[in-house]
Amino acid sequence: MPPSEPRTPIASLNLEEQRVLAEALFTSIGDGAIATDEFGKITRINPTALKLLGYTEREMIGAWFPKKIVSIHENGDPVSLIDRPITRAFLTGKTIVEKTYYRKKNGQTIPVSITVSPIMLSGKPVGAIEVFRDITIEYEIDRMKSDFISLASHQLRTPLSAIKTYSHMLLDGYMGDITAPQKKSLRTIVSAANRMNELISTLLNITRIESGNVTVTLKNVDVEKLAEEVNKEHSLAASDKDITLSLHCSGKKTTVHTDALLFKEVLGNLVSNAIKYTPEGGKVALGIKNRRYDVLFSVTDSGMGIPKYSQEQIFTKFFRAHNVVKQETSGTGLGLYLVKGLVDALGGKIWFESSETKGTIFYVTLSKTGAVSAPAGDEEV
Ligand code: ADP
Repeated sequence: MPPSEPRTPIASLNLEEQRVLAEALFTSIGDGAIATDEFGKITRINPTALKLLGYTEREMIGAWFPKKIVSIHENGDPVSLIDRPITRAFLTGKTIVEKTYYRKKNGQTIPVSITVSPIMLSGKPVGAIEVFRDITIEYEIDRMKSDFISLASHQLRTPLSAIKTYSHMLLDGYMGDITAPQKKSLRTIVSAANRMNELISTLLNITRIESGNVTVTLKNVDVEKLAEEVNKEHSLAASDKDITLSLHCSGKKTTVHTDALLFKEVLGNLVSNAIKYTPEGGKVALGIKNRRYDVLFSVTDSGMGIPKYSQEQIFTKFFRAHNVVKQETSGTGLGLYLVKGLVDALGGKIWFESSETKGTIFYVTLSKTGAVSAPAGDEEV
């Protein structure tokens, strides 16, 4: 019989009817569901959870949740009790949403997305309900997507490098004299090819970061030299807009134990944005401050700034603020997402201060030893 509109409101059901309804809901839910008492002992488990974990109801009821449901990290290490979402839900009284891996009874592991909600009574947790689902297929699709981007990017690079090489040869006169309009067109081709090359690098790096495959090779890096190289690479873009691009270093010679290539990508992205979002005749300055435990990098511009209401989303993938979209500046909203991922991979910190129409300062700190950054108030040396 097709479902018809309910005639009896739930509130007017008697206790027994409410219990049967709750039981039916719990049992028929498409995701795994587990309820515990205030001590974390399993009081109820639905058929989907039993099927996903490979246990019988008898094996589960009365068992201590954190012991019976084994949660592990991607590398196979167990998640410590204090880090388990159920513990945190009990301690904070808040719903915790997370991804982890569960070990089934047969030893196999499955990636799961879980939501644990504490059941609160007079401000105290008296139990918890966890709902979880198997996300193996989502993980597989993600991996296939990353493989595809990676393959496509590599394949795009080869024809692109031919375009760049031959355009440069034509520009440099290796194939005979060229006219001024031809030169102008060739410059446009080179600059478009460079942009495409940057986009491919960004996509490849994002794929590496998202799949956890970014290789960090730590070496002692002369960051002043690196910053000089970054500025040199962007000098043409700056002079095209009549922007003064400068470098300011304070303190003695600065060496940081980091990955030079990845960090260059970070500074390059920040400087490129600063130039892109600063009007003609403005200023962009790259600063390096040598402090006791870390080095503070800053990229300051006198540009259009980031509107207050957009500031929280600025490191989100594909996000572009309204003020830059309105001015029809080109961009993908991937640069800062990548920069944040890279700074995290290098154990650093990134933040910014910005005021619309006045300008922006992006700050990055890197610990000198390659470890996690020192506190923000680190003193200069
Ligand atoms: P893209 O520059 O390709 O749009 P990003 O991820 O590098 O992407 O930056 C995201 C957004 O952050 C930009 O679209 C812009 O709105 C804002 N933004 C980044 N850097 C600056 C800056 N220096 N000045 C003003 N806005 C900026």
